[in-house]
Amino acid sequence: SSRIMLGPLVAAIDQGTSSTRFLVFNAKTAELLSHHQVEIQQSFPKEGWVEEDPKEILQSVYECMDRTCEKLTQLNIDISNIKAIGVTNQRETTIVWDKETGEPFYNAIVWLDLRTQSTVERLINRTPGRNKNHLKHKTGLPISTYFSAVKLRWLMDNVEEVRRAILSHRALFGTVDSWLIWCLTGGEKSGVHCTDVTNASRTMLFNIHSLDWDPDLCKYFDIPMEILPKVRSSSEIYGLMKSGALTGIPISGVNYISPDFTQILLWSAALVGQMCFQDGQAKNTYGTGCFLLRNTGPKPVMSDHGLLTTVAYKLGRDKPACYALEGSVAIAGAVVRWLKDNLGIIQTSTELEKLAAGVGTSYGCYFVPAFSGLYAPYWEPSARGIICGLTQFTNKSHLAFAALEAVCFQTREILDAMNQDSGIPLSQLQVDGGMTSNKLLMQLQADILCIPVVKPSMPETTALGAAMAAGAAEGVSVWSLSPEDLSEVTSEKFEPQINPEESEFRYARWKKAVQRAMNWET
Ligand code: ADP
Repeated sequence: SSRIMLGPLVAAIDQGTSSTRFLVFNAKTAELLSHHQVEIQQSFPKEGWVEEDPKEILQSVYECMDRTCEKLTQLNIDISNIKAIGVTNQRETTIVWDKETGEPFYNAIVWLDLRTQSTVERLINRTPGRNKNHLKHKTGLPISTYFSAVKLRWLMDNVEEVRRAILSHRALFGTVDSWLIWCLTGGEKSGVHCTDVTNASRTMLFNIHSLDWDPDLCKYFDIPMEILPKVRSSSEIYGLMKSGALTGIPISGVNYISPDFTQILLWSAALVGQMCFQDGQAKNTYGTGCFLLRNTGPKPVMSDHGLLTTVAYKLGRDKPACYALEGSVAIAGAVVRWLKDNLGIIQTSTELEKLAAGVGTSYGCYFVPAFSGLYAPYWEPSARGIICGLTQFTNKSHLAFAALEAVCFQTREILDAMNQDSGIPLSQLQVDGGMTSNKLLMQLQADILCIPVVKPSMPETTALGAAMAAGAAEGVSVWSLSPEDLSEVTSEKFEPQINPEESEFRYARWKKAVQRAMNWET
């Protein structure tokens, strides 16, 4: 049979908290040609602990690659057209492995994990004025259980093999991007140990101004610098695939997670090549957690309202970094999973929408899912989940509705913080991520924010960003998005439908519930 003639293709590994995907796009039109997805097991061995198996994560990547290549072959698409592979990954999740055997010494400690809460409280108590922002001038981050340094410290203090491996110079540390790139480029034989600036900026060991590991931060956490990966830009060739169907293809992009990228896809194709900061652009990704980013351009801007300062991308070795303010919500899609796995009130996450839509209100029930403490803008590790406003009348549908509202209220808190930091209120919100298939959620979000929510018809923008960063890398250069090709990209817009007073009333109630979640013990 004849092969379909296509130009170059670009691919992305999307290794999320709940699943792994591999996606292949046409580099000219950004059309998604084929993909495959595999769920990832999470284990909760103790209260507050969240782990995943690094080997399972790696296997899931190979499986997704193989299945996707099979599907492409069935479509008569030649997989040798794949010119580059990008990676987008769950950030902060921490792995330490043996560089001589390729074996991890312990499970991956997932970003949501709370085991370091006492360490974090001890560190904050030791700072002048018990200031959780003590390291922020360098890292852009508050001291929190969220970031990798404290997880790595826990592994060094509690896993004898990690301690011994460090002494015998066999240990390598990495976030999921580093682990995957090292394995895919040949592991113990020829693995490349690197990370990119965006992932590095979430470790609390990285200086976001100098864009390199910071010796003083490493001393502060007592972490040997030799176990850290080399920091590279988000778009350059890190190494070549060493096995499987895609052997020889460069891995050349990581985490181009920027709102201006979605913006380009949606409206302003003329900006391609320029990649400049457009004030007022923000994107919220709804997955296991929510991550709302607003670009601030080539200079890091420090938040006065509990947001993180993070590196959004650096598209090449000699290119400047672009920074973003970010508000991170720990529990978004994870609350859906909790309703499914822990309470059993739904069988699949898609059932939630029907259940909640059936009542169309929470009847005064508020659900603050502070399972991992509260992240932005509070950074309160001791907060715990709370459901309040229950009556005899409340049923599982109201609870489902309250869970969806919780995602929206948490996003509203981040957006308020962003508007206060920048002084320029956002006029609409771009969205992506697995939860955005829930239309009720999108409508509720517009209602609670009182601004339109805009969802691109191509929902895989995060993966496409990584694929495009890979395709744009020096030595690959197959990214050829042109304005004509992009004009067909459409979007769905959700306009606010309730009046702002109603919205403010519900939001004020939510804030009261949050206060209780933070102080429930006192
Ligand atoms: P991640 O990248 O963190 O793995 P995804 O972007 O793949 O997350 O989204 C998966 C999350 O979205 C899961 O937590 C799941 O419970 C939630 N989710 C998926 N579909 C829906 C839906 N229709 N309604 C509500 N939640 C959903």
